[in-house]
Amino acid sequence: MDYQALAQLLYPQVTDTPEMLEEKYPHRNVPEGAVITRMAPSPTGFVHLGNLVQGLTSERMAHQSGGVLFLRVEDTDAKREVPGAVEILIDTLKHYGICFDEGATVDGDSGDYGPYRQRQRAAIYHVYAKKLVSEGKAYPCFCTEEELSAMREKQEANKETTGYYGKYAIWRDRPLADIEAQLAAGNPWVLRFRSEGSIENQFKFDDLVKGKLTITENDVDNVLLKSDSIPTYHFAHAVDDHLMRTTHVVRGDEWLPSLPFHIQLFQALGFKLPKYVHIGPLMKMDGTSKRKLSKRKDPELALTYYKSEGFPVQAVYEYLMTILNSNFEDWRRANPDASAEDFKFSPKKLNPAGSLFDYAKLVDVSKNVISRMDAETVYQLLVSWAEEFDPDFAGKLKADPEFATKILAIGRGGKKPRKDLAVWKEAKPYMGFFYDDYLEAPVFDEKFDKAVIRSVLEKFLAVYDYADDSAAWFDKVKAITEEIGFTTDMKAYKADPDAFPGTVADVSTFIRQAVTGKVNSPDLYTVMQILGKERSLARIQKVMNQL
Ligand code: GLU
Repeated sequence: MDYQALAQLLYPQVTDTPEMLEEKYPHRNVPEGAVITRMAPSPTGFVHLGNLVQGLTSERMAHQSGGVLFLRVEDTDAKREVPGAVEILIDTLKHYGICFDEGATVDGDSGDYGPYRQRQRAAIYHVYAKKLVSEGKAYPCFCTEEELSAMREKQEANKETTGYYGKYAIWRDRPLADIEAQLAAGNPWVLRFRSEGSIENQFKFDDLVKGKLTITENDVDNVLLKSDSIPTYHFAHAVDDHLMRTTHVVRGDEWLPSLPFHIQLFQALGFKLPKYVHIGPLMKMDGTSKRKLSKRKDPELALTYYKSEGFPVQAVYEYLMTILNSNFEDWRRANPDASAEDFKFSPKKLNPAGSLFDYAKLVDVSKNVISRMDAETVYQLLVSWAEEFDPDFAGKLKADPEFATKILAIGRGGKKPRKDLAVWKEAKPYMGFFYDDYLEAPVFDEKFDKAVIRSVLEKFLAVYDYADDSAAWFDKVKAITEEIGFTTDMKAYKADPDAFPGTVADVSTFIRQAVTGKVNSPDLYTVMQILGKERSLARIQKVMNQL
């Protein structure tokens, strides 16, 4: 067979050569050891936690090494494409601190290795298609859908592996005349790879996450270009990652079964194989067994979930770091104020079987992250969350930023900051009582006589002095406790509760409920300082009148 003639017959329009492309896309001028990697999503519009795991892993690997992170849009499947998906992806990842150095952008491309959208790269793929055909490494296949399904049925009936291989690869060595006749008839065709592999052969391969793998060679003549001349993922992966000078391919491990073919393809094309980082799926406990997080069952897979719940971006980021690199948590404890970027991330520490998603842990990390923020930052983030998800609350916060910031400053700073909030959604239940519109009427414990509660409030109103410090304030509460015959001796009370009608804790609770409407609140003295004398006392007065 004259492969040159076949190549010319199939791709008469291709005049560029691989050498020209090599020159156009030279090796990158980066320091030794720099990682060039990419995200290569299909523009489906759904951005999930798995995308973020992959983005974070590749971003850290690139930027930690002085390398490059780029975005390539894998839009070969036009049917799955959703308008605006590229923008959604770029914005979402940026929101989580993952920025690309080059690649597809909202308004076109940026960088010297483009185009970065696969549909615009058709001419490039055809250069390599022509090269493979001219070397006898690829050939056209004119099988119809019907022929292929008949073949599959036959293989299934014979209990054979299904696929286009060996004796089933019926277009592999057909004479040029047959091909010419099909082309002349205008019949559709795909370009297939001529596999020289055998499933009898195995070889070792090192994956940065999975470790040492034993791989069986591929013997299937897979499709490189579909009948519309658009490449399959496999062919585009080899051509693009070679020409874009990718050193590390970070991707989901659903691609692992295709790896033998990819290795073969890189060899056939004369390309240096990149390193592979195959990330396992996010798992979750379901009863006593683990399963993959599912789009259908688990709302927490979608990144929009974290936004609407009000998890700060930094919390999600740190949480993912925690589950990806088990030493991150200890590092964070030792370096509470360092930027997460100072942590030395390692893909080798990823769990090969996939990381376990644990909601309780996320909440815990988020509480820590929020507790370390200063009140101004919390205010800003809370307002921007509330503007989108609770505009009424946002209005209240923005009406008096100083007041809101004082509230949010309670228990902040110092060695053991309070950890009241895990998500912004919890802020209103936590601090809403500061705003008269959200204040609820107190429900006092029925075991106490209303007259006793009223008398506590009355006495408190009489002695309250805004200028008191917290110790003097509490002394007054204790004095009232004794006046009404309750005890301030909590030890004695615990030893024999029936001996006392109530304690200083009960007295504090009456006042707390009158001021805040709730049994639990941050430090009451501080709450009253922030509310101001007039508002605090008016609230107590009102409750008293209603008792
Ligand atoms: N478009 C592929 C996907 O979304 C990319 C895999 C890769 O990163 O190579 O799964």
